[in-house]
Amino acid sequence: MKTLDQMNLEGQRVLIRSDLNVPIQNGQVTSAARIEASLPTMRQALAAGAAVMVMSHLGRPTEGQPEDRFSLKPVAEKLTVMLGQPVDLVSDWIDGVEVEPGQLVLLENVRFLKGEKANDEALAKKMAGLCDVFCMDAFATAHRAQASTEGVIRQAKAQGKQACAGPLLAAEVQALDKALADPARPLVAIVGGAKVSGKLEVLEALIEKVDQLIVGGGIANTFLAAAGHRIGASLHEPDLVDTAEQLMERAKEKGASIPLPTDVVTAERFHQDAHPSLRDVAKVHKDEMILDIGPESAQVLADIIKNAGTVIWNGPVGVFEFEHFSKGTKVVAQAVGETDGFTLAGGGDTIAAIEKFGVADQVDYISTAGGAFLEYVEGKELPALAALSAA
Ligand code: AMP
Repeated sequence: MKTLDQMNLEGQRVLIRSDLNVPIQNGQVTSAARIEASLPTMRQALAAGAAVMVMSHLGRPTEGQPEDRFSLKPVAEKLTVMLGQPVDLVSDWIDGVEVEPGQLVLLENVRFLKGEKANDEALAKKMAGLCDVFCMDAFATAHRAQASTEGVIRQAKAQGKQACAGPLLAAEVQALDKALADPARPLVAIVGGAKVSGKLEVLEALIEKVDQLIVGGGIANTFLAAAGHRIGASLHEPDLVDTAEQLMERAKEKGASIPLPTDVVTAERFHQDAHPSLRDVAKVHKDEMILDIGPESAQVLADIIKNAGTVIWNGPVGVFEFEHFSKGTKVVAQAVGETDGFTLAGGGDTIAAIEKFGVADQVDYISTAGGAFLEYVEGKELPALAALSAA
């Protein structure tokens, strides 16, 4: 993959695909983490004398039906402050954009355009036609073959233009390769969250690589059921209990371990004010839900994490949004922060947990991507990366 620093950008029209899909409430950006992560790329292009256009998606509007609530306007306002120069939002941009060297403009939500998701060739051609250099910097969308991700790269190359990886995307790939290609051992993966079904392929891929696979949340509940525990009314997937059993057997064959909780925090309802009960995992009542791991289990996980050479983390080990059920994820987050090993975390909930427990500065690499992060870990080829690498 060519990178932005290898390009001559002076006086060139540079189109950057960023991921500025940030949370917005009442017209205000509530977390600017993705904007912050994308800023160095924009600054680099501006400093090199380029005329810069930035495009991104925001939320899930219906294509062809622009709606104010999915407008990037609040992002343009935030960018103006963060970048320290005016950033205009351009609403009608697909047929041409006026921008001068040293200027940066934000193009309105790519998902307002018909054909974006279907990777329409004519649309991708028009996008490529806007620039001399196309820079793909949105790793979080690299697993989707859409007009503003994969299509525009191919079309830019077909039009004899340059297409390159932005520094943010390049850093993401480098961090993932460091954790996956030849990781310092022991390699520990933490896969938490609600459902095995959403993360089955990543669990299958990781079991072949890791020394320890920590499962958490609803995923751990399905594994507990597979191990023969009664888990009461806990969130779990009965259909995948056999699959969990097979994964535990595969781990045994590989000499890897899947540590399961020995104590858990339960409640009779899924609510932040629900009364928490600490129980031995063998003593969960039939009308109770497991919503967190107990202190003994959390300590075991913390020790594993602190001894790791590499940690890959995606997903909470409990309902960390609810105070009474957040301690397990807090202990895990702190251990990830404290370990000397290389630590890589990704996914929206994981980032929220890292921020909540104040360990962001201690994690070596925080990936802004969720789906793309998981697909890369699974070893899948991401369409946008393939298009960047192609001749
Ligand atoms: P995911 O989107 O699959 O990563 O799932 C993240 C969500 O799983 C978070 O919102 C957690 O609150 C939730 N979660 C974690 N542990 C549990 C649990 N034991 N029961 C129900 N939900 C859980």
